[in-house]
Amino acid sequence: MKKERQEYDFSAVEAKWQRLWDETGAFTVREEPGRPKYYLLEMYPYPSGRIHMGHVRNYSIGDVIARFKMMRGANVLHPIGWDALGMPAENAAIKHGVHPQAWTLDNIAHMKSQLRRMGFAYDWSREVNTCLPEYYTWNQWIFLKLLERGQAFRRKSWVNWCPDCRTVLANEQAAGGVCWRCSTAVEQKRMDHWFLKITDYAEELLSGHAQLSKWPEHVLLMQKNWIGRSEGAYVDFRVPALGESVRVFTTRVDTIYGATFLVLSPEHPLSAALVDEAGAAKLQAWVAELRAGTRGRGGEAETEKEGLDTGKTAVNPFTGEPVPIWVANYVLMEYGTGAIMGVPAHDGRDFEFATKFGLPIPEVIVPETESPARKEGELFEDYGRLVNSGPFTGLRSAEAMDKMAAHAQERGFGEKAVTFRLRDWGISRQRYWGTPIPVIHCPSCGTVPVPYEDLPVRIPFEAKFTGEAGSPLEKIPEFVNAACPRCGGAARRETDTMDTFVDSSWYFFRYASPAEAKRPFVPEAADYWMPVDLYIGGVEHAILHLIYARFFTKVLRDLGLTSLSEPFPHYLAQGMVTKDGSAMSKSKGNVVDPDEMIRDYGADALRLFILFASPPEKEFAWNEKGIEGCSRFLGRVWTLFREVEDGLARGETSDGAHDPEAYARLRKKIHQTIRKVGEDVEKRFHLNTAISAIMELANVLRETKAAVGPSAEGRTLVRQAVETLVLALAPFTPHIAEEMWERLGRKGLVLRAAWPEFDPALAEEEKATIVVEINGKVRDRFETGRDASEDEVKAEALALPRVRQLLAGQTVRKVVCIKNKVVNIVV
Ligand SMILES: [Zn+2]
Ligand SMILES: [Zn+2]
Repeated sequence: MKKERQEYDFSAVEAKWQRLWDETGAFTVREEPGRPKYYLLEMYPYPSGRIHMGHVRNYSIGDVIARFKMMRGANVLHPIGWDALGMPAENAAIKHGVHPQAWTLDNIAHMKSQLRRMGFAYDWSREVNTCLPEYYTWNQWIFLKLLERGQAFRRKSWVNWCPDCRTVLANEQAAGGVCWRCSTAVEQKRMDHWFLKITDYAEELLSGHAQLSKWPEHVLLMQKNWIGRSEGAYVDFRVPALGESVRVFTTRVDTIYGATFLVLSPEHPLSAALVDEAGAAKLQAWVAELRAGTRGRGGEAETEKEGLDTGKTAVNPFTGEPVPIWVANYVLMEYGTGAIMGVPAHDGRDFEFATKFGLPIPEVIVPETESPARKEGELFEDYGRLVNSGPFTGLRSAEAMDKMAAHAQERGFGEKAVTFRLRDWGISRQRYWGTPIPVIHCPSCGTVPVPYEDLPVRIPFEAKFTGEAGSPLEKIPEFVNAACPRCGGAARRETDTMDTFVDSSWYFFRYASPAEAKRPFVPEAADYWMPVDLYIGGVEHAILHLIYARFFTKVLRDLGLTSLSEPFPHYLAQGMVTKDGSAMSKSKGNVVDPDEMIRDYGADALRLFILFASPPEKEFAWNEKGIEGCSRFLGRVWTLFREVEDGLARGETSDGAHDPEAYARLRKKIHQTIRKVGEDVEKRFHLNTAISAIMELANVLRETKAAVGPSAEGRTLVRQAVETLVLALAPFTPHIAEEMWERLGRKGLVLRAAWPEFDPALAEEEKATIVVEINGKVRDRFETGRDASEDEVKAEALALPRVRQLLAGQTVRKVVCIKNKVVNIVV
């Protein structure tokens, strides 16, 4: 290994090519109408200080595909930028006395040098940095447009509040009911808060899923649950004692004859009016508990379910019967109407509640068929046929729901309705290092938008970072004191800044025209590049970032800036990087520093290893042996290359005969490799199996080159094999590939060379017949490619109709595979 390393000086070669790419602007692209484009994007990083292995993996996957598409002749946009606003910079300012801007820009400079050392093919001329006014001015511009359209608004809202830090906390920062920074118990405070009306797009965010067939299914499901659409009906229950009505939302109006109580949220506007003094104290305690609990995360509080009988009744409009009104600590005001009807015979939670408090449990739905037999008085939550339901008795649930909603509408006590779990997006943060919300509060004019020509509202440089209570912006009189744009009088500038998710909701449009100074981006440029053809990033962003980005795209469309509705038709969620069984993290002490790996093995070896060990969407377990192996492989490729180079030079005069069998074998391998690597990269993103195929080509070349070499024809084939090896490696290990390409005497960069063609007849895969056994007994046979991976073969075996039939109802414990021979399924 030592010898190989001496021979192949990766440090010098990598530095040489990085400099060359840079100097020639190799990855700088322009719109070229008529030429096919490919926009490849990885989620941009937060400049925390250093690149970590998660980044290396994410960007290496993207880089291979970008470079491959370049070789395929596409006009490839592959940009990178910085998600540069946010809390950590402010914390660093408090802790180390360094200004957030200096901290951020230093980190960016360092991380940029790390990315360059990885050899990523970025168009650096399009770098976007969200902490610069050139970028965040457009956050403000979009905000003002939303304000004009009534889609940005301010209202009082409950927020997590740390009394010690005197700041609002995001739910994630208030986990467990304590402040993430100082561990003080988090309070709930009603504060003015800015919202964006994402709920206007709830229906479209859901129906848009139809265009996202190339997203992982579980991501779509997470979004669907987050949006939480339910169809049902509103029904009003009159409360005679108050002369008012309580509106409930139900998805099961067919069960309403079985509604024997109402339950209100402690925060329901009528709750306080319905309870006595003792009850009022209890309500307050519950409100506090609810707010410290799981608010906003969509769950019910995990506390014991408690109820309070108000002693008042409401009238069930269908039966005309009075039903008691309760208040309970598990009903949240944010969902539905903050009031629910209790149908204990047909809802598990209501059943529990009624049992606990001794309320009647009348049955109004029975199964359509009485099998499986159901015991009297048992909970039945399915749809069925109505009983004891007045004129609706005998109807099936589906029909009854339509008729009963129509009935309610006719009589004026309800209507059909669709509700969503999705809430409007609260964007106010009491932070310094964020985009200032561009409005001014005037004592006479109210809330006045900052005029467009006055944008940007800059983040003032002079600020104190003491860690003391409140936002640093509030304490800068030059910032806070402003003239009202409308009346010119003394007014107060808004000091809330925007959630940094606003920045990342449209940055992918900005790359199309990063220098544009009149609009967020040039529509024509975006029309050419957008949509992003492939978006790659961690699944932890499956909900918030990806929903917000889809929302902003629809907003930008409605503003006439784009015709697109969906920005990312294809999303690839890459798996985590782990070591010793858990995610790499400082606290676990299992972090591997990419810089050290580049120093010891080179960027090419690091790229190769991180792509080789598992397919992109799966977890990747780091081990140092693996990168050593990849480094050795590259050393062997280099040695092989040099031997062939020498051989070709020496052999030019000799004119012997080649071994026809070895010749055929090498020729076949060349065509198979071109086909397999191309298909694995382009169609399946199976970068790991593509690398295996390249390794096999290198092996076959080493084994056959002596036997093939002696004839002129043979030398041509060996040369073709070497060129194929270099071309196939180029997207994965671009530095060594460029170096070899140059030594082969080829003009221009290898990434500009066309991806080679293959002869389908020669590339035909050899087949193997696989025997399928279940518990050791032969059950079936099938043919598959000899190069198919173990996972592919297992999947194929399990999908065989006969096997599926035999496995029905059984649990597969283990699947064992003997390559090209047997798959044994253990049940
Ligand atoms: Zn705190
Ligand atoms: Zn005014």
